[in-house]
Amino acid sequence: MLNTLNLALQGKAVTVFTVQDKIKGARTKLKLWCACIDCREFDCFPTLADFLLETKETLGDDTVTAIKEHLQGLHMQLGKYFPELDVDFEWIRNPFGDIIEQCTKLSIQEGNSLVDIASDGGLKMWSNDDIQRHTLAKSRRMAMRRPAYMFNARYNSLTLIEERFLEAAEYGNIPVIRRMLEELPEINVNCVDYMGQNALQLAVANEHLEVTELLLEKENLARIGDALLLAISKGYIRIVEAILGHQAFADTTKLTSSPLQTETHDDFFAYDEDGTRFSHDITPITLASHCHEYEIVHILLRKGARIARPHDYFCKCNSCLYHQRHDSFSHSRSRINAYKGLASPAYLSLSSEDPVLAALELSNELAVLANIEKEFKLYAE
Ligand SMILES: [Zn+2]
Repeated sequence: MLNTLNLALQGKAVTVFTVQDKIKGARTKLKLWCACIDCREFDCFPTLADFLLETKETLGDDTVTAIKEHLQGLHMQLGKYFPELDVDFEWIRNPFGDIIEQCTKLSIQEGNSLVDIASDGGLKMWSNDDIQRHTLAKSRRMAMRRPAYMFNARYNSLTLIEERFLEAAEYGNIPVIRRMLEELPEINVNCVDYMGQNALQLAVANEHLEVTELLLEKENLARIGDALLLAISKGYIRIVEAILGHQAFADTTKLTSSPLQTETHDDFFAYDEDGTRFSHDITPITLASHCHEYEIVHILLRKGARIARPHDYFCKCNSCLYHQRHDSFSHSRSRINAYKGLASPAYLSLSSEDPVLAALELSNELAVLANIEKEFKLYAE
């Protein structure tokens, strides 16, 4: 019994409430068994009952008392290690009870949020079951992920509709995405989940081509550049092509510039720390070369993208001087990333007419650099 209980308390979907329920159930069972033993009923212990039946023996009073004491001890200890939850938390399980009474137990801000949830007018679009399921899920998540939720103001402000939207994008629910985009023109397609990812990033990360295409039709879509980098890093060629078909890439400068170079903070690339996972100096073609994505490198080359050769190490141009002084580590790293891309088999073989000659030239250059810049040693070998 303890093994089963132990297993039931583990896993991803377990919350404080499931644990509480299981423990409560186990403790009630222990009480029931004590009552059974008092009546000399041993059916709740199959092995013991079988043994008694086979041997036609009966248990002495001492043994019965010992078993009962053991069960009572277990009951007490479970109660000690898992104290009953405060009833004040019950609203998390059922936010549809008496809202005012529940709100008085919360801070003003939390109370306001609960009322918002319970009276969100847009929710009428969804079936009652839907609302119940999602409100419940949201409240639980809010309770369980308290730290992340408190520090992330944007997540705090997600409406249930937005949560449903992000979830549909993540799981590739095409009908829901299509319906929401058609019927809710005012929906914020750039809302982000508690991890700072927007719908486009979630759809691309989970290889949902159709959802990606539907999202790309929306105006003012943010982080298209970041979604492209994401698709490249995962080698999702069809999605890369879909994103490159977006009007943002009609102008090829978007393809050759890195998040660092655009510096316009226009949300094309995610510029906040948790929104992107790519080094700020990486361009689509550098990334494709690093990842040995031949087909993607080919597509990007055809679109006019190239990896710019870093300036000479001793270059004294304004840009080099500025970056060297401003952040010499980033400057070094961006040079390494560029050379790593230039030297990759995918880029070499597809971009030069004579890959062997190009490789030889490059390796000479890297050998010289390795003597100057220690970080280059790794790539010259
Ligand atoms: Zn320079």
